[in-house]
Amino acid sequence: MPRTLITHATVVLPDKTVGNQTVAITDGRIEKVCPDGACPPNADDAVFDAKGLYLAPGFIDLHTHGLEHDLVSANTLEAYGESETKYGVTGFLATLVGEERKQYLESVAGIRKRIEKGCAPCLGIHLEGPWLTERGGMKPGTLRPLKGDDLLDEALRAGGKAVKMVALAPELPGAEEAIPRLVGMGIAVAVGHSGAGADDVHRAADLGAGVATHLFDVYAQGRETEPGVYPFGAVEAILDDPRITAEIIADGVHVPPTWLRICLRCKGPEGIALITDSMLGAGLPPGTHRLPDGTEVGIREGDGARLANGDLYGSALTMNRAVKGMVLRGGATLPDALRMASETPARVLGLEAVKGCIAPGFDADLTALNDDFEADLTIVGGHIRRNRIQ
Ligand SMILES: [Zn+2]
Repeated sequence: MPRTLITHATVVLPDKTVGNQTVAITDGRIEKVCPDGACPPNADDAVFDAKGLYLAPGFIDLHTHGLEHDLVSANTLEAYGESETKYGVTGFLATLVGEERKQYLESVAGIRKRIEKGCAPCLGIHLEGPWLTERGGMKPGTLRPLKGDDLLDEALRAGGKAVKMVALAPELPGAEEAIPRLVGMGIAVAVGHSGAGADDVHRAADLGAGVATHLFDVYAQGRETEPGVYPFGAVEAILDDPRITAEIIADGVHVPPTWLRICLRCKGPEGIALITDSMLGAGLPPGTHRLPDGTEVGIREGDGARLANGDLYGSALTMNRAVKGMVLRGGATLPDALRMASETPARVLGLEAVKGCIAPGFDADLTALNDDFEADLTIVGGHIRRNRIQ
């Protein structure tokens, strides 16, 4: 069987980088990793010279709503996936927020249908509520209760096995039943957009919730219990609880660098999943852009997308820049930052045996990064999806 060989790569392993390596790919999987010259090409092999670029496991974004000129939807899913590969992404969850009931269920069912036909790199659907108690940037009137409401049942029916993650506020009545039920279905449960206290968070983890939605953003602060005693709440509970993986938006705007460094010290790379939470406009070059909804947003390096009046419109982050942010602002080593973008999110999805690592037997989901963290080559399941190296 013809192979694909990536030669002269600086392979990034979980704890180090190794130069002058060749990665051989057969039938969508990594067959072997060896020093250059140790596995010479056969006549029918396709050979790509990485010219020393860092070769990393492809990024998995658990949380993205929009990218460039597209909002994620059934109609845009294919183009969306194509755009994602420009930023080194080889897996992502189409992330939906609450909207009018009929439209919401149609969105879920539509994306499921596309995924069932095969829509790599989309790995599934992330329902970011609407079973939440704090809106953050979501539209007014979209939050829903869990108890006495059948929207969760309907959404699970509409989404079927494509639903991989559900975010909810753990203090909502009905959460104690919903969390173990979702976990039992193989769905990752995230706590977030919430006024929960520390106890609610630990109880949710007892019930199987294993993720925190964009940690630090849209959480209630702890209440002072004694004058002069520093209060603690959901954020501190999440930092403390090793059962919970924290989603982090490492753009320097949503999470200040000090928090990035504190979070890394508390949770380590195995407890942080870098996400983009990206909106329309993410990935576009610096300047002012008119989006399909008519909104004009300003994009600047190292900032979120902003409206003309300066208000934050959303995250303009891409996964490669999230890695860059975690290195430059969060003080992570390159291997650690890359683990947070691949191995850790793969584990959240139960895919750690096949994704998130460059080793024989793993899916050939790879990206080659230059010194400025730009993805020059992206391979999804052994297929070359972006190639700027030759
Ligand atoms: Zn979001």
